[in-house]
Amino acid sequence: MTANDTASAFTSLYGHAPTGVWAAPGRVNLIGEHTDYNEGFVLPLALPHTVEAAVRPRTDGRLRVHSGQAPDGLTHDLAVGELTPRPGGGWVGYPAGVVWALRDAGHPVDGADIHLNSDVPTGAGLSSSAALECAVAFALNDVYELGLPATALARFAQRAENAFVGVPCGVLDQMASACCTEGHALHLDTRDLAQRQVPFDLASLGLRLLVVDTQVKHDLADGGYAERRAGCEAAAASLGLPALRDLSLDDLDTALAALPDATSRGLVRHIVTENDRVNRVVALLDSGQVRDVGPLLTESHASMRDDFVISCPELDLAVDTANAAGALGARMTGGGFGGSAIVLVEEDAVDPVSAAVHGAFAAAGHRPPRMFPAVPGPGARRLR
Ligand code: ADP
Ligand code: MG
Repeated sequence: MTANDTASAFTSLYGHAPTGVWAAPGRVNLIGEHTDYNEGFVLPLALPHTVEAAVRPRTDGRLRVHSGQAPDGLTHDLAVGELTPRPGGGWVGYPAGVVWALRDAGHPVDGADIHLNSDVPTGAGLSSSAALECAVAFALNDVYELGLPATALARFAQRAENAFVGVPCGVLDQMASACCTEGHALHLDTRDLAQRQVPFDLASLGLRLLVVDTQVKHDLADGGYAERRAGCEAAAASLGLPALRDLSLDDLDTALAALPDATSRGLVRHIVTENDRVNRVVALLDSGQVRDVGPLLTESHASMRDDFVISCPELDLAVDTANAAGALGARMTGGGFGGSAIVLVEEDAVDPVSAAVHGAFAAAGHRPPRMFPAVPGPGARRLR
């Protein structure tokens, strides 16, 4: 996939050349899961996989969108003045939602022709949705000379997904796609979007981060996410806190004793310990103790499996098998109930660990997982 291919496909579709081509990446989150909507900390890195958007503005109030990956194969033609949120409305809601969110805030986006082309696996927990939104948001920002910073574009992308598509996600995915940089993980405080680029160069240390895409998505995914979010918000309210981010590890036991049921205790324990793990991982990366990150990844997985209850048999099998085969640590990444796991591994253990995971999936009768190394790439940008 190249920017030229995406531009040529645009030209054949619409009969004129695009103004430019923009790209925005998918991501893996090294650690900090479900902490974003609790106003806590996350540590994503951008994948080399991107959604590309070839875009040309229009002055007649029409929005035309096409995607090389959409099963419908259609070019959708919409009136920008009539865009209204439509939860469950399909893939078109992602690009249309970005146009709607910008216009709703008063930005003069009068229409566009858009062609999308992507190599980010969809629904794999690698954030194809935010990559799509950010590619469109960055393109519109340039072609309409809106002058918005990356963090504002990430917020518009999140608003598109929350309000237009109807997915109650936090800001992790959009900020990762918008703000990650090559060779770094992004240490982000999701409360105020304060950020720091943390050098993350595993190759020079003889290490790898493997992504294991289980290729499963369980039915629970959408409802389960919304339910966890509502549970966290209810627990924070019952503890008299603005968000679970405001509960410190020191006060955790007292808070747990005040909560009425095991489900909410699990939610709270995961968020508080996970925020602490993010900051410990950052400290280890800063001090060059990268191998010591492994056990924290595995602790994070156990916390999501046992306390937050968002894992599934395929993810547990990937994590347990990788660890048993000599990985330094592993965890599921993304919203849960399927999708992908990440595995921190010595370079010379990549082959045995991969073979063990493949073998275990075959023995359990699961679909073969897809595995590839995650090397931190750049965030959203104009390609041409
Ligand atoms: P994830 O973001 O983890 O990949 P989501 O369920 O949040 O999973 O988003 C996946 C959805 O995003 C797809 O079902 C589709 O509607 C939309 N999408 C992602 N990439 C594309 C693409 N290249 N073309 C059209 N729609 C896409
Ligand atoms: Mg998504």
